[in-house]
Amino acid sequence: MNLVMVIEDEEAIATLLTYNLEKEGYKVKVVSNGLNAVSEVEKNKPSVIILDWMLPEISGVEICKLIRSKPEIKTIPVIMLTAKSQEEDKIKGLGAGADDYVTKPFSVPELMARVKTNMRRAPLFEETDKFLQFEDIYMDLVERKVKRGDVYIHLSPTEFRLLKMLVKEPGKVFSREVLLKSVWGENIFVESRTVDVHIRRLRSSLNKHGPDYIRTVRANGYSIDKNKEIESSTDDNID
Ligand code: CA
Repeated sequence: MNLVMVIEDEEAIATLLTYNLEKEGYKVKVVSNGLNAVSEVEKNKPSVIILDWMLPEISGVEICKLIRSKPEIKTIPVIMLTAKSQEEDKIKGLGAGADDYVTKPFSVPELMARVKTNMRRAPLFEETDKFLQFEDIYMDLVERKVKRGDVYIHLSPTEFRLLKMLVKEPGKVFSREVLLKSVWGENIFVESRTVDVHIRRLRSSLNKHGPDYIRTVRANGYSIDKNKEIESSTDDNID
């Protein structure tokens, strides 16, 4: 989902990075406390990490080593950000497992270019996700089970895949075309209104046990979202 994690204790730099990364279309998570950094990486699984060298309590180099020692997150590209510009330090940073190295003061366009380059090498976490959750909807991707609160809900394989797409990126609007390609596959011919039919079935299965979180965005597609007030609909007005 193109999340960039910024591990940086200086607020001004974190703000500058957040602004520019969001402008480039990335999601951003700032972690200002180095001691939480590794657990935040494990929890959020960012695509790229921008890591400050000089952090209170634990150095960026130590954090980088810890990231590299954990199988689940070790392949996430790390860009080290630091005022230390000496060659020796650079070698130390790369020796700790950093993929890239940018010295402060840095040029924003250059750093954005590095993020983009490293983004291409971001690991895909899809296969390692075992559970997904949105509000009271729980998906067990291994057992292929869905629960709403304490109630198990039976979904067809197609509805399961649809729900998985939506729950993976709450708030993101998926067009019918994108859903068709991802859920049914590129080479299978189905009409786009097929998506509407399956969404309606999905809704009716889910909504017996809780509020309707699936948002119909007219002319665009669907998303799962708690804030439905803008364009909400419980009937798809089809058939
Ligand atoms: Ca710092």
